[in-house]
Amino acid sequence: MEKETDILGKKDILSLSPDQLAAEISAFGEKKFRASQIFEWLHVKRARSFDEMTSISKPLREKLDGAYIINELRIARKLESSADNTIKYLYELYDGNHIESVLMDYRHGNSLCISTQVGCRMGCRFCASTIAGFKRDLLPSEMLGQIYAAERDSERTVESLVLMGIGEPLDNFDNVIAFLKLLSCPEGKNLSLRHVSLSTCGLADRIDELAKYNFGLTLSISLHSPDNESRSEIMPVNKRYDIDRLLRSCRDYFKKTGRRISFEYAVISGVNDSRQSADALIARLKGMNCHINLIPVNSIKERDYRTDRGAVLKFRDMLEKGGLNVTVRRTLGADIDAACGQLRREYEI
Ligand code: SAH
Repeated sequence: MEKETDILGKKDILSLSPDQLAAEISAFGEKKFRASQIFEWLHVKRARSFDEMTSISKPLREKLDGAYIINELRIARKLESSADNTIKYLYELYDGNHIESVLMDYRHGNSLCISTQVGCRMGCRFCASTIAGFKRDLLPSEMLGQIYAAERDSERTVESLVLMGIGEPLDNFDNVIAFLKLLSCPEGKNLSLRHVSLSTCGLADRIDELAKYNFGLTLSISLHSPDNESRSEIMPVNKRYDIDRLLRSCRDYFKKTGRRISFEYAVISGVNDSRQSADALIARLKGMNCHINLIPVNSIKERDYRTDRGAVLKFRDMLEKGGLNVTVRRTLGADIDAACGQLRREYEI
C-alpha cells in the first residue's frame, strides 16, 4: 500500500506488510523482532486489541494503541443455509458501510468468497452487487478481516479463497495486490495463492499488470457472451475492452504464468444459450488452454433473467462436442441469496 490510510485518525496496522511494520516499529526506537512479534499477534494469534499482546511491554502497547487501529469487521448478520452448510456474513465496516462474504463447505475444504469493494461500478445487468452503485474500495485489512472474522465465528479454517463477492477486484488493483501479498506471506495466514481465484469482468490492461506478478492464482474471466453486441448489452465494460482485446490479455496471461484461464458463462435464456452462441464460443476459445464454467443465472429481484436448466446441459454438450473443457457450477447458498451475483451492499435488516 503506497498511500497511508487513516481510520478514525489512526493508522491501519492490519494493512501493513511485515517490512512496512518493521520500518514503523523501528521509527519508535524499538528492535526489529518486536515488529515480528506484533505481526504474529495480529495475523496468527488474531489479537483484537493491543492489550492482548502480552509479550509486548505495556508502554509500547500504549504507544501502539495511540497510533494504530486494528481494523476489525463486525458481523452485522449471519445467515446459514439449511441445504448445504453455506454461511453468508454481512459485515459492518468502521465507517458504517456493509459488505458480504460467503463461506462454503466443499469436499476439498472450506472456501470463502470475499468482497473487494463496497458496491461496484461495472454495471453488469444481471448482477445485484452493482445496482446500488459504487461507494468505495476496500482496504487490504478489510479483505483480510473478512477471512479472520469468518474463521473466528465459524471455527472453520479457510483453505481456499475466491475474489468473487461484491466489487471488481481489478478496479481496486493496488489494495488487492497488497492483500494478496499479506495473505500469502509466511509470517501471516500463509495461504498459497494457488488456492486463490480472482474473478474479473475483463479490465484487460489490469490483467496485463497482474500477469507481471506471476502469483500462481487462478484467473477467472466473466465472459458470458461470445459476441460483442450482446456482451456490451449485458456488460458495459465490453465497450471499453472488447472480446478480442480481452482474449489477447488472457492468452498473454497464460503465456506469462502458465496458469490455465477459467471462463465463467452465466447461461441466460434467450440471450446466450443458442446453438449460434455455442458455435461462436467454440470458435473464440478453440485451442486455448482454458476451462469453461457454466453458471445457471441466479435470480435477483430487479431483473428478469432466467436459466432453462435443460438448456444448460444442452449448451454444455455442444461445447464439449466442439472440444472445450466444460463444467456446470453447483449453486450453493441460493436459499439465503448467497449465490453468484446475489450479494449486495444495501439490505434491510
Ligand atoms: N467483478 C467480478 C467478480 C464478482 S462477480 C466479476 O465480474 O467477475 C462473480 C461472478 O458471478 C462473475 O462471474 C459474475 O459475472 C457472476 N454473476 C453475477 N451476477 C450473476 C447472476 N445473477 N447469476 C449468476 N452469476 C452471476
